[in-house]
Amino acid sequence: MRMKIAGIKTDSIVDGPGVRLSIYVQGCSHRCIGCHNPETHDPMGGSDISIEQLLAIIAGSSSIDGVTLSGGEPFEQAAAVAALAEAIKRWGFDLVLFSGYTFEQLLTKSMADSNTCSLLHSGSILVDGPFIMAEQDYNLPYRGSRNQRLIDLPRSLKSGSAVKWSARWSCTVG
Ligand code: SF4
Repeated sequence: MRMKIAGIKTDSIVDGPGVRLSIYVQGCSHRCIGCHNPETHDPMGGSDISIEQLLAIIAGSSSIDGVTLSGGEPFEQAAAVAALAEAIKRWGFDLVLFSGYTFEQLLTKSMADSNTCSLLHSGSILVDGPFIMAEQDYNLPYRGSRNQRLIDLPRSLKSGSAVKWSARWSCTVG
């Protein structure tokens, strides 16, 4: 299976917790005003790559804490991205997903689309919603506008409503 991507960034520290390998999917119909990645909008642009090639790149990234699938709009290539995400999860990597759709919109979509459902179930965090210029805030971790949320996907899918993600801190003594 193949998909269109806009690019890959190694050692990203802005696309989720820790150090991540970020894959930017090509194509996005949201066209948010002020989008920082307008070159990712055209579904005919970017590069064509196989899931196997992407998995080989991930396998060669030994020092990462997780993988991020951003965009563009990952859910507009749901079949290929879901196949990639399933393999990433099977390998034990933490997976962050970005989408211009809200969690509620994706949940509704997932009822009629098994790929959307599968993709949601492979992620640990969803950064959801479009970028809204009037809500822009440079101080937010991993996102650009206040309407966008960090959603704890396993807990949200279990409860059927959005549960906000927060970093869990732990320490040991001795
Ligand atoms: S959803 Fe993201 S990539 Fe798509 S237009 Fe909005 S900000 Fe840009």
